This record gives sequence, structure tokens and C-alpha cells, in this order.
Amino acid sequence: MDKKVIVLTGAGGVLISALAKAFAKEGHKIAVLDLKKEAADKVADEINGQGGTAISLVANVLEKESLELAKKEVNSQLGPCDILVNGAGGNHPSGTTSNPYLEEKDLLKTTEGFKTFFDLDVNGIQFTFNLNFIGTLLPTQVFAKDMVGRKDCSILNISSMNAFTPLTKIPAYSGAKAAVSNFTQWLAVHFSKVGIRVNALAPGFFLTDQNRALLLGADGALTPRGNTIIGQTPMGRFGEPEDLISTALWLSDKGASFVTGVVVPIDGGFSAFSGV
Ligand code: NAD
Repeated sequence: MDKKVIVLTGAGGVLISALAKAFAKEGHKIAVLDLKKEAADKVADEINGQGGTAISLVANVLEKESLELAKKEVNSQLGPCDILVNGAGGNHPSGTTSNPYLEEKDLLKTTEGFKTFFDLDVNGIQFTFNLNFIGTLLPTQVFAKDMVGRKDCSILNISSMNAFTPLTKIPAYSGAKAAVSNFTQWLAVHFSKVGIRVNALAPGFFLTDQNRALLLGADGALTPRGNTIIGQTPMGRFGEPEDLISTALWLSDKGASFVTGVVVPIDGGFSAFSGV
């Protein structure tokens, strides 16, 4: 790959920091954007400490002004953005039901914190839709302007397994990631005449801070949900952040110059398995 300026949102987090470091190893100039300054600084420091080039910037993917400020810094310190990775995303507990299935007796439960579908908080649902969908749209509006009419520019969105088939308990996160996959195809078509390719990764189950409590108990053993996931993953393990790297490098490289609008599952076979 020619040396590029690569902007990654949510790059202080577990998965996208691994992509930032992998792109840096290839010699690209990296802008590490995150809501959390410390997390972004840590990733950029590590890249610079290993001889790479990275800057860290605090930016909120839900505030266009904050993204415009980050873009100014990227442009003045590194140059125009060639590749954007829309990595910021996640779920919110108040958009999550306590149980996978509704049962009649659930409506009588008074346990503190117990949530059926009827208790879901619209604010949690909106938070999740905004973070994943608007948080992909706004950075694209800001950074893709640099790419119009230039060569070998692309966008990589981060969808999820739950976009193909919704996962139990998390309707908002599943719907929001389905919107990200759909938007990936829409953008791929919309940008096809101006030289910007748009693709997405759909990671399966990776153990990260967002889902650790759902998948592992305090003793480190798999929760019932963690067990179900491993049982439905033909390869029999959770993903490691490194599992995303070669697909991200490929989709961002000239070698994928005729690939646009695809959502690539990286899931150990989860989405291919019917369960039987
Ligand atoms: P993570 O929580 O480790 O990282 C997310 C990062 O995004 C954090 O550093 C956080 O500070 C940042 N962030 C949150 N809100 C932001 C905002 N408004 N503006 C800017 N930055 C913000 O999560 P992760 O597991 O590394 O997830 C990365 C992406 O992968 C997300 O889009 C997530 O939905 C997706 N994903 C994760 C999994 C998984 O199993 N972990 C599976 C499928 C998809």
C-alpha cells in the first residue's frame, strides 16, 4: 500500500487500537481519534514509541464541530485523509432486555433493574442508534470531503454479526448495526463516481470491555450466554483483535480496488452456522 493518512474513530478502544497499530506498522500516518483523551494518547504514544507516526485527538463522533476541529489538525499535521475507519460504536445497557425471551411471569417481576421489552428506555435506544449510525455518518461527512476526486481513498465501517441476524436482548444495538451495514452499501453506491470505496467489517464475538460482563462471570468462567456463543461458533473461540487486521489491510489496499459495498464477517463461522 502507498503511504496513507488514516483516521480511525474509537481508536482508543480494544479493536480499533489494534487496527491503528497494524496500519502504523505498514508505514501509514495515523490519527487516533477518541472521546477519551488518555486512551487516544496511549495508542498514539505506543505507535510513535515504536517508530511510527501518529497523532492523538479528542473528538466526539456525535458532534460535527468537534470532528471539524480534528480534521483541521489532521490536515495540518499529517495531510488530507485517505482512509477513514468508523470504529466508535457500542451498546447501552438501558436498551437491553434482561432475558432473551419474554414470558408471562416476567410482567409480575419487581426485581430492581429487571427489564422486559416493555421497560426499554427510549433514551438508551436513541443513544445506541446515534452512537453507531450517526457516529458513522458525521465523521464520513467531515473526512470524506478530503477524498473526493483523489486516488485510492476508502472508508471502512464497523458493523457486527448482529446486523445479519439480531442477537437476543440487544434490539437497539442489532438495529443500529444493521443500519451501518445498509449505509455501507448506500455510501458505496453514492461515492462510486468520485473514487471512494466503502466497505465494512462485521466482527463476531470479541472479548472486550463492552461485553466482558455479559460473557464472563467474576470467576472468569463463561456465563450461560458466553457458553451459547461459543457453542454457536464453529471455530469454538472468541475472536482476538488481531483477527481483524488482514481483512482491514486488504479492504484499504489497492488490491481491493474493485471491492466496494461489502460487509465481511469475521466471526469464526458464527453467521454461517444454523445451529444444527
Ligand atoms: P471499545 O469500547 O473498546 O472501544 C470503543 C471506543 O470508542 C472507546 O475507546 C470509546 O471511548 C470510543 N467512543 C465511545 N463513544 C465515542 C464518541 N461519541 N466519539 C468518539 N469515540 C467514542 O469497543 P470495541 O469492542 O473495540 O469496539 C469497536 C467497534 O467494534 C465498535 O463499533 C463496536 O460496536 C464494534 N464491534 C465490537 C464487537 C466486540 O465483540 N467487541 C463485535 C462487533 C462489533
